[in-house]
Amino acid sequence: LVVGVPKEIKNNENRVSVQPDGVAELVHHGHQVLVESGAGVGSRFSDAEYSAAGAKVVGTADEVFAAADLIVKVKEPVPAEYHRFREGQQLFTYLHLAADRELTEFLLAKKIDSIAYETVQTPDRKLPLLTPMSEVAGRMSVQAAARALESPAGGAGILLGGVPGTPAAKVTIIGGGVSGTEAAKIALGMRAIVRVFDTNPTRLAYLSDIFGGRLDLVTPNRARMAAYIADSDVVIGAVLVPGAKAPKLVSREMIASMRPGSVAVDIAIDQGGCFETSRATTHADPTYIEEGVVHYCVANIPGAVARTSTLALTSATLPYLVKVADRGIAGAAQTDPALLLGLSTLGGHLVNEPVAQAHALAY
Ligand code: NAD
Repeated sequence: LVVGVPKEIKNNENRVSVQPDGVAELVHHGHQVLVESGAGVGSRFSDAEYSAAGAKVVGTADEVFAAADLIVKVKEPVPAEYHRFREGQQLFTYLHLAADRELTEFLLAKKIDSIAYETVQTPDRKLPLLTPMSEVAGRMSVQAAARALESPAGGAGILLGGVPGTPAAKVTIIGGGVSGTEAAKIALGMRAIVRVFDTNPTRLAYLSDIFGGRLDLVTPNRARMAAYIADSDVVIGAVLVPGAKAPKLVSREMIASMRPGSVAVDIAIDQGGCFETSRATTHADPTYIEEGVVHYCVANIPGAVARTSTLALTSATLPYLVKVADRGIAGAAQTDPALLLGLSTLGGHLVNEPVAQAHALAY
């Protein structure tokens, strides 16, 4: 198969879908890999590294799309890329089709076979191609909170872990899933006092086992949440209700009850946010102050650490990509139940039920 790796053109997207050692793996499997010149630059991979790994580096995206049987990307195709696709081509990338009717209709009309990273799901219900980005966002959230607590950022001028003889900051994390757990690890590592709210008792028991009593684990209700937040220097929102908008768990009143210069980081902002006072921000201007509290609500947190994010994403996608290249989208979905759940469009038919429901299209 000819595998094509175009440069990402979505605004501020610096990741790349395959790193050079992934090219070597595909070549070892007998595939040819075409990489657009500069595709890896945002993640600090040079054309020379791709060539050395066995890729053919070409000058333009058009050359990649014209020759490739399978296009591998990071972000969903944007309208400026649509004209490059050939009928019947195959596509492996994040797609988020439920939120994008135009793209769904385009993939159907062009009879493109596609698998969406975000819906690939293992039999134990894990999302292996989404998890690495939640891990990055969770760890980054504490780094962002620490910076926002500094005086020049409008914060209270508190060092997250304090020093011996001073109080450490209190960090409340709402949602102890993938990103919340990574946030807890980093906050504890920086010597903060950390508490985690989660509605799932199994998850709380798991966190209790792995953190061995170093975390204060709390079953949420409104009164408890209000009391903990009023006494927090940092609150981190990390909830997810699969397939739904984030619930607004933290009211404006709760945010206003925090000490001035405290910090609110809403990781769930990509699903609408879980604080009433949240509104999406960008890496160019990541924070704003509301009710005296510094808010950090960046919707694509992993974008700030593109190299780490690329390494994490491509390490997770590569084993699946090899299967897709070896057997094609349809063949790979037939033989791997995780990829089958990621299958979105096939030969002009929509084969993902939630996407069909979102757009009231035939399934
Ligand atoms: P996850 O499913 O691993 O964890 C979510 C946790 O929230 C679960 O443990 C669940 O039990 C808990 N939860 C659900 N409702 C709750 C409630 N009412 N109170 C307390 N806990 C509750 O999800 P994740 O992978 O950690 O993702 C969390 C959020 O971060 C998602 O919205 C995801 O889209 C977002 N995210 C954002 C970025 C970014 O750049 N901003 C990057 C990656 C992920």
